[in-house]
Amino acid sequence: MTIFRNITAGFLIFMMIQACSQNQNKQTPMIQPKIQKSAEEWKKQLSPLQFHILREKGTERAFSGAYWDNHQKGTYFCSACHQELFDSETKFESGSGWPSFYQPFGKSSVSILKDTSLGMVRDEVVCQNCGGHLGHVFPDGPNPTGLRYCINSAALSFEKK
Ligand SMILES: [Zn+2]
Repeated sequence: MTIFRNITAGFLIFMMIQACSQNQNKQTPMIQPKIQKSAEEWKKQLSPLQFHILREKGTERAFSGAYWDNHQKGTYFCSACHQELFDSETKFESGSGWPSFYQPFGKSSVSILKDTSLGMVRDEVVCQNCGGHLGHVFPDGPNPTGLRYCINSAALSFEKK
């Protein structure tokens, strides 16, 4: 039994070292989100589509969301935690079928992480407050930033000015 316990302990330490070294390899360190909830807690709060996008990094179908064609003036908040994410002044017509912005609301609105899923390297956009997946950012946007934040409507909650 003692040997077994030692092996188990050794394995756990090995796993911890592995986890740490993986974190160090990430190009963009994730800022620890202020809001931490379990999957069950998020499920109770979010719709199935919101949960799929925000917590499972899903993507809504193009031209299917509530905001890709929204031209009203106002603020887009995170639909999970109500963090201010984007201003309508920075929204533009990308033709992609997803709401597109050339810059986030403020410096503490979103974090950018490397996403290597689906055999591509993309810059993932997450809410800095709750860590929820919002969409991706691409370097083919308009001036003044040249960036296109391609965001799922379901991750947003719009409030008119
Ligand atoms: Zn959030």
